[in-house]
Order: sequence, then C-alpha cells, then structure tokens
Amino acid sequence: MNDPDWKLKKTDLIRVAAHFYQKGWMVGTSGNLSVRVSPDTFLITASGRPKGLLSEDDLVVIRGLGRLPENSSERPRPSAEVSIHQAVYACVDDANAVFHIHSVESNIVSEWAVDHSLLLPPLEMIKGFGVIDPSVGYRIDLLENHLDVSRIALDLKDLLSDPVRVSKNHLPAFLIRHHGLTVWGRDVMDAFHKIELLEYVFRFMVTSRTTDPALSSGSN
Ligand SMILES: [Zn+2]
Repeated sequence: MNDPDWKLKKTDLIRVAAHFYQKGWMVGTSGNLSVRVSPDTFLITASGRPKGLLSEDDLVVIRGLGRLPENSSERPRPSAEVSIHQAVYACVDDANAVFHIHSVESNIVSEWAVDHSLLLPPLEMIKGFGVIDPSVGYRIDLLENHLDVSRIALDLKDLLSDPVRVSKNHLPAFLIRHHGLTVWGRDVMDAFHKIELLEYVFRFMVTSRTTDPALSSGSN
C-alpha cells in the first residue's frame, strides 16, 4: 500500500477527479475512476465520496478481476460500478486506466445512437485517438442501462469479446444510454486526454445539432 508507484497513481486519480468535478462531469458523488497497479489489481474511487474532495483514503484496492464478494463490511466500499472497470481490465490487456463520468453531453448523444452505435463527425480531434483519417467514420458503442450494474458489465464483456469490433473502427470507449461515458487508456494521462477529446466531440455534436442538424453527425 505504501508502494511509491501506488502513491503516485492515487495522486493522479485525485487530481483528475477534481478536474472532472470542476467540469461538471462528476457532480454530487457520481462517476468513478480507476488505475491498474498490476495485471489483476487496480485502485478505484470509493462509493459515495464527493469527487472534488477525494483523499488517498477514498481509493479502494480491488484484487482480482472476477466477481467480488457481496455485502462486504469493509470500508470504504468501492464504487458500485466496479464491475464495469473489472470487465475492461479483464478484456483489454493494454487498458491501465478507466474513467467513467456522467456528463450532460454524453447523455444527450446517447439518444442518437443507432443499433447501439454512435457515428462521430469527422473532426480533426479524433486523431487524438491515434487514427490517421477521421473521415473514415469512427464510432462509439452504446450499452443499455440496467439497475443491476453487473448486467451492464456482462454486456460489456460480450462487446469487448467481439473480434470484429476493432475492425469496425470503434474507439476505446462506450456510452451507457442516459447514464454516461466510459473511456480507457494505456495510462492515466492517455485516458484523461481521450475523455476530453470525446467530450469535445460530443459538445460539437450537441451544439451543431442545435444550430444546424445536418452538421452534427454523419449518416447515423
Ligand atoms: Zn455511472
């Protein structure tokens, strides 16, 4: 627990959470952030804590990527959405940070997905995902929201196990309908940049649809 690398990663998550809180992406106690510290261990924000005021004690260690024991009396408790983070780490080897936010724009654009996929406009910003030509037509997957978060995690595992998903130009992120956005990256800063890029794209879509519906998307 006193590993200097863990301490650095805790500091990173606390700073990112405060930044996202300021942006209005983690209001109240919503949203959750995690970082991998070994192949099957990660740190995640605790349940019910205000994300603008986290301390190191508000980060919970999760060991193992399988089902967690229910009704654990340990405090603090991990985020109720920890199973979503487990699913990403279990299915994506190079995912080392997972960020899940509840932004207004991600909820609006979640209504525009067709067949559980949202086509993004060909903005230069999409190059931030390491792609060469945004005009190819990149997409974000959409999952349905369920009261039982483990059902969302199961759907996510099915999605991430789809061998043709990457070839269909789907970015390393997904929306949950009327719920929020989840993004992963190779480290904390990579996930940080990618979530900011996607939120920019969503803001563009919402703003341009308000002013000119033809601009907001491709042929979705
Ligand atoms: Zn959530």
